[in-house]
Amino acid sequence: MKAQKRLIQGANMPSASPSLLEATQEIIRQALEKLGYSEATYELLREPLRVLTVRIPVRMDDGSVRVFTGYRVQHNDATGPTKGGIRFHPDVTEEEVKALALWMSLKAGIFELPYGGGKGGIVCDPRTMSLGELERLSRGYVRAISQIVGPTKDIPAPDVYTNAQVMAWMYDEYSRIREYDSPSFISGKPIVLGGSKGRDKATGLGVVVAAREAAKTRNIDLAGAKVIVQGFGNVGSHVAELLHAQGAKVVGISDANGALYKPEGLDIPYLLDRRDSFGMVTNLFQDEVITNADLLTKPCEILIPAAIENQIREDNADQIQAGIVVEAANGPTTLEATRILDRRGVLIVPDILANAGGVTVSYFEWVQNNQGLYWTEEEVTRRLEEMMVEAVHKVLDTARHHQVDTRLAAYMVGIRRLAEAVQLRGWV
Ligand code: GLU
Repeated sequence: MKAQKRLIQGANMPSASPSLLEATQEIIRQALEKLGYSEATYELLREPLRVLTVRIPVRMDDGSVRVFTGYRVQHNDATGPTKGGIRFHPDVTEEEVKALALWMSLKAGIFELPYGGGKGGIVCDPRTMSLGELERLSRGYVRAISQIVGPTKDIPAPDVYTNAQVMAWMYDEYSRIREYDSPSFISGKPIVLGGSKGRDKATGLGVVVAAREAAKTRNIDLAGAKVIVQGFGNVGSHVAELLHAQGAKVVGISDANGALYKPEGLDIPYLLDRRDSFGMVTNLFQDEVITNADLLTKPCEILIPAAIENQIREDNADQIQAGIVVEAANGPTTLEATRILDRRGVLIVPDILANAGGVTVSYFEWVQNNQGLYWTEEEVTRRLEEMMVEAVHKVLDTARHHQVDTRLAAYMVGIRRLAEAVQLRGWV
């Protein structure tokens, strides 16, 4: 029991702290400087335009009332309505949501989506809440933020510990408030409620395409490559599934409680079958469980952190054995760790590039909802793959051309359009 508790604490490592936002701001500053933009542009883009904090009272199943804190952050809407997911997690902070919103602006920039960045979060632990409590919390959150969101203002989506069911409740609540049907208010909905085919796998598919393209530059074929995936939730489980289907050897996976590592490859279909709705699976293998921290430093060719922030840090970056790190999670590598990996010649495919398949297919969903015309899964997959391949090469070319690391290159590509837009609008 004690060991279990320690593992849980270990897995929920420091969530995004002010330093995560500060690190992001520092790279934004460098990117704008390289691109020749003014100090005023940096001053505007380093912080979000709007931060809304809400308190949400929820009647719990035992009759008591609990009051939850939630946030919705809109980084910048110069390139279109803001867009980004909502996370339910006990470690959510305002600083974290601000950094996540900023990253959404950068993703939209890299993929040329007609959006700015937004993000939401509620401080809660959905793993300890009933479906009824989660529904009341989701609806309460939408009522609390309804004034500032909408299909042409700010479009939410799933993120850590939220899913298509949560999106369905939020869509329903928003449509009731507005008194008209508004599917394009939110993406990541169930398919029968206007969700896009392929949205559930989109982030994972994008990550795998990005990994494949990055691996090619190192003459590594994904089929047969040894890969570790940290996290088995919305993103990690699909990454593991797709990698396995493509013949890669997934040698390690993890959930919030611990990790499994097997040099000859894990039986991914079996693990997918046994995991619960929060991606928990390691509890079935008590004796073989290692810590998340240990998993990251095990031998592999490609490491894919697909859980939460700050996992690769100054204290473990030197022990990472992978030659390629593909960041499926948002912010898994600290700034210091990026420097260490870069110095060691490890190729990083940064989060704002690698995991933007999710928001890209969210964009497809919004387009389909607005048109009332729905695409086949093949169409979604084809367009996503095309956009991901182009984006990866754009970032790698920028890194080569400007002699900068891939993270700074991604920020340069991501911020350029926004910097131009705020200038053209006369904001700076
Ligand atoms: N939460 C995802 C992200 O961090 C998806 C956002 C979206 O689909 O709008 O990119």
